[in-house]
Amino acid sequence: MKSRVALVRCSSYDERTVAAAVQKGVGLLGGMEQFIQPNDKILLKPNVLVGDAPTKLVSPHPTVFKAVARLALTVTNNLSYGDSAGMGKPAANMRKPGFAEIAQEMNIPLADFENGREIQFKESPFTRHFTLANGVLDADGLISIAKFKTHQLTRITGAVKNQFGCIPGLLKPGFHIKLPNPLDFAKMLVCLTLLIRPRLYIMDGITAMEGNGPRGGTGRQMNVLLFSADPIALDATMCRMIQLDPLHVPTMQPGRDWGLGTYLDEEIDLVGDPLESFVNSAFNVVRAPVRPVTSSRVVPFFRNLVSPRPEIDLARCNRCGTCVKHCPAQPKAVDWHNGDKSKPPAYKYERCIRCFCCQELCPELAISVETPLLGKIVHL
Ligand code: SF4
Ligand code: SF4
Repeated sequence: MKSRVALVRCSSYDERTVAAAVQKGVGLLGGMEQFIQPNDKILLKPNVLVGDAPTKLVSPHPTVFKAVARLALTVTNNLSYGDSAGMGKPAANMRKPGFAEIAQEMNIPLADFENGREIQFKESPFTRHFTLANGVLDADGLISIAKFKTHQLTRITGAVKNQFGCIPGLLKPGFHIKLPNPLDFAKMLVCLTLLIRPRLYIMDGITAMEGNGPRGGTGRQMNVLLFSADPIALDATMCRMIQLDPLHVPTMQPGRDWGLGTYLDEEIDLVGDPLESFVNSAFNVVRAPVRPVTSSRVVPFFRNLVSPRPEIDLARCNRCGTCVKHCPAQPKAVDWHNGDKSKPPAYKYERCIRCFCCQELCPELAISVETPLLGKIVHL
């Protein structure tokens, strides 16, 4: 059977317009009753990152969250919501993106994303051990609400990547240390999604983020909401809209190999508005395969000359130290020069595992990922 992906044109965040579009999209998949039953405990999992205002386009827009919540409430009253961000407390991080206010208005409690329990995933094809937030484990099922945006490590932040926030805060950087190869990191994300198995994925692509995502990019009108029970098919459809080869997203192949979903065109049943009407070849995303950063065949010295790396815009840096604090490399790959906090931190690229946590978390958006000149030449 083919995986169904519904596409619904939606050009504004007007509350009623979004509500109608969400209802239409879920309806094209058979209605909310296909995914949840009365009295099911359902967790709404928006992609929050660190909790930025809706204008920053980091998270799904609050009107999308509200529309999904309202539709889910027609089936069950037992909703909760939550996400574990890259830093900060989950409750505080929910305020700026507008989720806390909506949840309060709709009487939806915040789930526990500060604490978690260990889970053995014995059948896993790759990662067999996870600690998941209590809020995830205490729910009967999830609705994953993703944002259409770029990501430096995995090319896109989509339906699969959203589940990384189900791991409580401080445990997340450990995966970057254990899995410095982005291809392995992507396999872990697939295993995590196989374990959690959200029932439905909804992606906000009305105003998407292109360029320096997942936090520092710029807006691009894509005017679309995407819906599917198959996160690989949903992400592959997103890729086709921006003319990015789905196989350049490292979750695709393991996702299909391990039964999470399919990226193959002929195995996806597109319904709703035509895909062609959303295609935008000008969308700013890196259209190249993700390359492993660790390889026994490539000496670290050469690797540092060719592989994309984070760089600080000295004029934008306010020396807050967030990048230093959250760099998971030991010893740190970005640090104060001789402890001097009056100047921006500096990189030691030979230590850097290219997790891009610093770029993701910098509050001033002062860090971008750049490919050194030699890297551009050898990858031509
Ligand atoms: S997180 Fe950004 S602003 Fe803060 S010290 Fe690092 S580069 Fe500068
Ligand atoms: S410097 Fe940045 S990209 Fe490199 S290991 Fe530290 S946080 Fe990750």
